[in-house]
Amino acid sequence: MNDRQHEQDLMTCVHCGLCLSACPTYLETGSEADSPRGRIVLMRGLHEGRLSPSDPDVVRHLDLCLGCRACETACPSGVPYSSILEVARARLNADRARPVVTDQSRRAFLDTLARPRRLAMTLKMADALTGGAIPAPVANALAGNNPLLRSGGGWRASASRVGAAAGQPLPAFTPAVSPKRARVGMLTGCVMRVLYGDINADTARVLAANGCEVLTNRRQGCCGALHRHNGFVRDADDMARALVDAFTPFDGLDAIVTNSAGCGSTLKEYGHLLADDPAYAARAAAFAAKVRDVSEFLDDLGWTASLRPLSDQPVSVAYHDACHLAHGQGIRDQPRALLAKIPGVTLVPLPESEICCGSAGIYNFTEPDMAQRLQSRKLDHILDTGASIVAAANPGCLAWIESGVKAHGLDIRLAHPVTLLAEALAETT
Ligand code: SF4
Ligand code: SF4
Repeated sequence: MNDRQHEQDLMTCVHCGLCLSACPTYLETGSEADSPRGRIVLMRGLHEGRLSPSDPDVVRHLDLCLGCRACETACPSGVPYSSILEVARARLNADRARPVVTDQSRRAFLDTLARPRRLAMTLKMADALTGGAIPAPVANALAGNNPLLRSGGGWRASASRVGAAAGQPLPAFTPAVSPKRARVGMLTGCVMRVLYGDINADTARVLAANGCEVLTNRRQGCCGALHRHNGFVRDADDMARALVDAFTPFDGLDAIVTNSAGCGSTLKEYGHLLADDPAYAARAAAFAAKVRDVSEFLDDLGWTASLRPLSDQPVSVAYHDACHLAHGQGIRDQPRALLAKIPGVTLVPLPESEICCGSAGIYNFTEPDMAQRLQSRKLDHILDTGASIVAAANPGCLAWIESGVKAHGLDIRLAHPVTLLAEALAETT
């Protein structure tokens, strides 16, 4: 993005303050500098040279932002907050505003998450080296409460997913089970592929049961969302180009379907993000125009498969709105409408369902204290609902909320909506 565009984006804020009550960090701290309006003032100061990127207070307040985009939903002036934040974070990275060790560990963690083989190998090696016996205080000191690296059950659970059914790749082609109605490409993701391959399998099964041919391939890499949100824009652009290339061989796709909210919101912006690249602009725009979240796609297509109850007893489900689905893509009704089709399921309203759970990509790794506060806030609301299942359509939310549920010994199941739909499919499908 050029400087003039960034300046125009900064100027769209009229300082009305209507976004403040939607901002999770402002709700927790009550500090103007931890609100969208306050951060925009800081980013404007950086842009105009009135504030220095080496000012630790500036870095602190910008790092504490979750990038959840709740402020965009609340803002009547259409401030493109996430674009502004990405530019500011890229500037902080370029100016080496943080200690070198902080930058390097952040970068190494992102690079590991974005490379499925490296992530799988890292988890396996860590598991083999520690045998699960790493002392909890040491693990906590190293990894805080990160859902991938945390000690105890979570660490073991994450490692055990690698190579188990959850880590198995999808077939390149899944035929439609009922009469064919659509041909879709499916994003298998990076973290999703390694730790939540079972959700990918559920997604393909649900799509096939509703008359879709599902195509995928192993050439796919990371979509670049995690790097982009953390200001590593050049790497993110390279990942976007590679993903467009990976889908180029597929002819005649009606849609490119994703089950990960964070990936979907970035994929839908590829046309805009690669608009200045003459070699990719047209293909990236065509790619982005086909991207659909799986709930959005199925709701549009129309659900046709038979469903049976999940249990002999009625089941109450609370739906948590993943930030990049609700705020990033405006998708709120479709997953709820699909879940409501399952016989015996009652959807119970979750207070503050659109307030971030604290996961936010690598935020729970870089800002464990605030992430923990928001996790506790989310768990309190979940407990108020009395629901036995919490549904969420993003791997980070599932992992982070589940880590809180386990830490508190709660009897609550976390599940992606497509997993519940797949379980409810009649056996013939
Ligand atoms: S992105 Fe989220 S945390 Fe950051 S300012 Fe906006 S609402 Fe607050
Ligand atoms: S970001 Fe939007 S809602 Fe928030 S203060 Fe600025 S104009 Fe108002």
